[in-house]
Amino acid sequence: MTIIVLIKQVPDMEKVKFDREKGRIDRSSAGTEINPFDLNALEAALVIAEKTSSKVVAVSMGPPQAEESLREAIARGADEGILLSDAKFGGSDVKATSGILSAAIKKIGSYDLIIAGIQTVDGDTGQVGPEVAGILNIPHISNVESIKDFTEESIDVVSNVWEGQYLKRGKYPLLMTVTKDVNVPRLPNFKNKMKARKAEITKWDSSHLIDIIDESRLGVKGSPTKVKKIEVPAQSQREGKIFKDSGSEAVLEMLDVFKKSRVLNKEV
Ligand SMILES: Cc1cc2nc3c(=O)[nH]c(=O)nc-3n(C[C@H](O)[C@H](O)[C@H](O)COP(=O)(O)OP(=O)(O)OC[C@H]3O[C@@H](n4cnc5c(N)ncnc54)[C@H](O)[C@@H]3O)c2cc1C
Repeated sequence: MTIIVLIKQVPDMEKVKFDREKGRIDRSSAGTEINPFDLNALEAALVIAEKTSSKVVAVSMGPPQAEESLREAIARGADEGILLSDAKFGGSDVKATSGILSAAIKKIGSYDLIIAGIQTVDGDTGQVGPEVAGILNIPHISNVESIKDFTEESIDVVSNVWEGQYLKRGKYPLLMTVTKDVNVPRLPNFKNKMKARKAEITKWDSSHLIDIIDESRLGVKGSPTKVKKIEVPAQSQREGKIFKDSGSEAVLEMLDVFKKSRVLNKEV
C-alpha cells in the first residue's frame, strides 16, 4: 500500500505578524513547525504502514524551506518526501492549493490512503483535505478522532461531526482528515534522524505538473479568494478581585457577574 500524508509547514502562531496591507500572514516574521494536526496524520499513517508493510510519502507545498518539515517527517518515520515549490505557487488560496496538491498526487500515480490534518493553525479553513478528495474524485472521511481497525482494503474509523460520533468504514482509495485525539505523535528517533539527514527530497515545480494542472490554476492567478482586510482582535484582559474576610460580599458579587454574563438568568 502507498499512504500519502499532506504536511504543511506553518509559522509559530504565537510570534507571527500580519501584513495588514496585503491581507496576509507575514511568514518571514516567525519560526516554523509542522502543522500540529499533520503530525497526527503522519502518526496514523506510520501505525497503518507498520502493520501493512506500506510506504509513507509525505507531500508538502510551500517555500523551499518547507523541505525541513519533510526531513522532520522522515525523521519521524516517513519513507519519502516530495516538496512542491515554485514562485508560481505563491499566493495560492485553498482552491489553488488543493489543485496543486491533487496534481502532485496524480503524478505520484498509485496510492491507497491520503491522510491530512483536520485544519491548519494558520489558514485554518479545514477545506484542503475534502477539496483534494473532490478533485481526485475519491471518497473522504473528515474529523477522524479514532481508528478502530484497518486492512489492506479498508479502514474503520470514528468521525466526530457536530458532537455526533459516526463509525464509518472507508474503502481505498480514500482520503481522511484527522483530529488531535486520533493518536499521540511519536518523536524522531536517532536512526531515522540519520536517514532524514541523507534523504533525497523530491522537488517538483510547475514544470513537473504542467501536463496535469494548467498554469492558470496556480498561485494568485488560480485563486478566486481575495482577502479584503485582516483584523487582529484586541486581547481582552483577565480581571480578578480578591475578597478577604468577606465571603458573603464575594458571593453576591459573583452572582451579579453571573447574571450580567447570562450564566444565570433567574433570580437566586
Ligand atoms: C488570497 C490568498 C493568498 C494566500 N497566499 C498564500 C501564500 O502566498 N503562501 C501561503 O503559504 N499561504 C497563502 N495563503 C493561505 C493558503 O491559501 C492556505 O494556507 C492554504 O490554502 C491551505 O489552507 P488552510 O491553511 O486553511 O488549510 P486547511 O484546509 O485548514 O488544512 C487542512 C490540511 O490540509 C493539508 N494542507 C493544507 N495546506 C497544505 C500544504 N500547503 N501542503 C501540504 N498539505 C497541506 C494539511 O494536512 C492540513 O492539515 C493565501 C490565502 C489566500 C486566501
